[in-house]
Amino acid sequence: MINRNDSDLSIRESSNVVNENDLVVNENDLNDTQKYKHLWVQCEKCYGLNYKKFLKSKMNICEYCGYHLKMTSLDRIELLIDPGTWNPMDEDMVSLDPIEWDSSELDSSELDSGELDSDELDSGELDSNEEESYKDRIDSYQRKTGLTEAVQIGTGELNGRPVAIGVMDFHFLGGSMGSVVGEKITRLIEYANNHSLPLILVCASGGARMQEGSLSLMQMAKIASALYDYQVTKNLFYISVLTTPTTGGVTASFGMLGDVIITEPQAYIAFAGKRVIEQTLKKTVPEGSQESENLKSKGTCDFIVSRQFLKLTLDMIFDMHFFRNRK
Ligand SMILES: [Zn+2]
Repeated sequence: MINRNDSDLSIRESSNVVNENDLVVNENDLNDTQKYKHLWVQCEKCYGLNYKKFLKSKMNICEYCGYHLKMTSLDRIELLIDPGTWNPMDEDMVSLDPIEWDSSELDSSELDSGELDSDELDSGELDSNEEESYKDRIDSYQRKTGLTEAVQIGTGELNGRPVAIGVMDFHFLGGSMGSVVGEKITRLIEYANNHSLPLILVCASGGARMQEGSLSLMQMAKIASALYDYQVTKNLFYISVLTTPTTGGVTASFGMLGDVIITEPQAYIAFAGKRVIEQTLKKTVPEGSQESENLKSKGTCDFIVSRQFLKLTLDMIFDMHFFRNRK
């Protein structure tokens, strides 16, 4: 019996050795992956690796499955606005910390719900930034993205036609809507109102910014009332473009208020996210039920337009709109 135990032990020891070797190999693999990580972008749908160098020329569309990956607001402006015509507005407007947000008061259940979710999942920085103050996080996102806030607004020409356009950027704190994002969009709408310009808002957002509490929620009403003035009082024309992901307070306000609502293929559009619904209702949300294809069949949006044809489509819609109004 003693002998058997001994041999058992030796087997176990040798298996330990094998495991250690495996670990060494894995670490090397990991090092290689880490080392070349900056060269590749992994598709969120098919997990295929897209070479970063060529991704921009392909408009951030996955070369394996055609999924429309997230775009920065700068790339988006380049895609939609004629070269040399972009005039940014209110670029120096910066978020302060209006409610003196204290992240240490946040318990883990709150971290799991709502708006913080999507942005943290995307940047994967929850661990390092959990303790950081709101002000520091704004600073670090400003350095990382080169933007001052999660939306860029301005005027420019779309195939020679002057337009007012606002583009949200998910890479800046999950495109969340705080006071500055709300104020910038409101000012853009008011500018478009005063100058009778057609308006485009490209949405990409995790929703209201929880670090600014109810002040974030008030932006929804502010923007909606500015849009009422623009669309109803002045009878002007607004197109909203929903890109992946558009959720929370953005969906619940200006995202859904477009005279025409365009979405990108397979874009994730929701009010509450899949995980939040499943945790609250204890029901499974079917795969794809919050994607643009399903939403279009329910009448939530008007067109699903691939990125290659987005500028052309916007131009055609404006053509039809202004032709009709001229008559
Ligand atoms: Zn893919």
